[in-house]
Amino acid sequence: SRYDRLEAAKPMIECREVHKYYGDYHALRGIDLTIRAGEFFSLLGPSGCGKTTLLRTIAGFEDITSGVVLIDNKDMAGVAANHRPTNMVFQSYAIFPHLTVAENVGFGLRRDPRSRAEKAAAVEEALAMVGLKGYGARASHALSGGQRQRVALARALILKPKVLLLDEPLSALDRKMREQMQVELIKLQRQVGITFVLVTHDQEEALVMSDRIAVMFEGQIAQLDGPEALYARPASRRVADFIGVMNFLPTRIIGDTPNGVEVDLPGFGRVEIPAANISRANPDDEGPTVGFRPEAVSIVSTGAPTQSRVTEGTIDEVVYYGDMTYYDVRLDGSDGFGAKVRPIRIAMRNVFGREVQEVGARANVSWSPGSLV
Ligand code: ATP
Repeated sequence: SRYDRLEAAKPMIECREVHKYYGDYHALRGIDLTIRAGEFFSLLGPSGCGKTTLLRTIAGFEDITSGVVLIDNKDMAGVAANHRPTNMVFQSYAIFPHLTVAENVGFGLRRDPRSRAEKAAAVEEALAMVGLKGYGARASHALSGGQRQRVALARALILKPKVLLLDEPLSALDRKMREQMQVELIKLQRQVGITFVLVTHDQEEALVMSDRIAVMFEGQIAQLDGPEALYARPASRRVADFIGVMNFLPTRIIGDTPNGVEVDLPGFGRVEIPAANISRANPDDEGPTVGFRPEAVSIVSTGAPTQSRVTEGTIDEVVYYGDMTYYDVRLDGSDGFGAKVRPIRIAMRNVFGREVQEVGARANVSWSPGSLV
């Protein structure tokens, strides 16, 4: 599989104990990571977590305070940005409006010793790669946002870097265009095979595009994993909260079992938590906190046959998204816990012909212990 091949690929970028101070401010606090050749890697985190700083230290636009950055096995200490095998695509595309599309794309070849015809061919090839075949003679100032982004990509790719660094490249585009460009960027990356490192604060974008994602908070990597692992097995409550929606419920311990612990889960009743799933990082005074995704449970109609267990509740909130609906359901019997238990959020795919339920309606919630703990 692609994953196995990446595992076996050589390291392209290695950061070892990288620290960066801006004056007193500790922006990067011991970054350790290895990005493999050919990988589509994302740095994801909230504003101010240091992801752009990390990207800029890889690019060579920022000096690091301590630690080591290797690119393709070479120590980058003292190597200027323009001597690194990297190229950066910025959020603001920095297209020269007075130049044509072809002149913009060929800009980095000014001092290239190849003949005019060879350079023109390279420009054509780069334009074709980004879906702008035949656009070379156009004026740059008249391009749409999506087209500018493509020109910026072509201009970076023509220099054949080993690593392409992308700083929120799609954030200026509208939603539809952004989704289209996400798919195109993935295809492009597969086609050219070079290492992509993307900075984004958009978790959906990171999940869609990346082979692996480093989630950053306050200058540190909180978790580094593939999209599925990150979503299904977040390493901490904070990561879980940042990536998608997660229900958290307090529990009360009933007693130990041979394989773990039996708890009272508000609204669900008695559930066994396997020992392996009890987070040591979360020594609550009561029982451990249980976290599950909104799609781990579902609402079923009354009397529908089900293999799962069913508990009842009342719909507290309905958030309609067209293709899906979020229901917040207050489960019967979830009161009476020391802390007030919030309604659980349930994600339902909307089916043509099935009505969206209303606030105040009763709901049968179908679940199985294995999907909750
Ligand atoms: P955003 O998505 O908002 O760009 P980010 O995760 O990319 O956030 P960085 O731009 O890496 O964050 O900045 C991390 C921290 O370092 C921020 O608190 C920022 O204010 C600070 N910082 C960044 N550049 C400088 C600078 N040149 N001088 C001083 N502080 C800086």
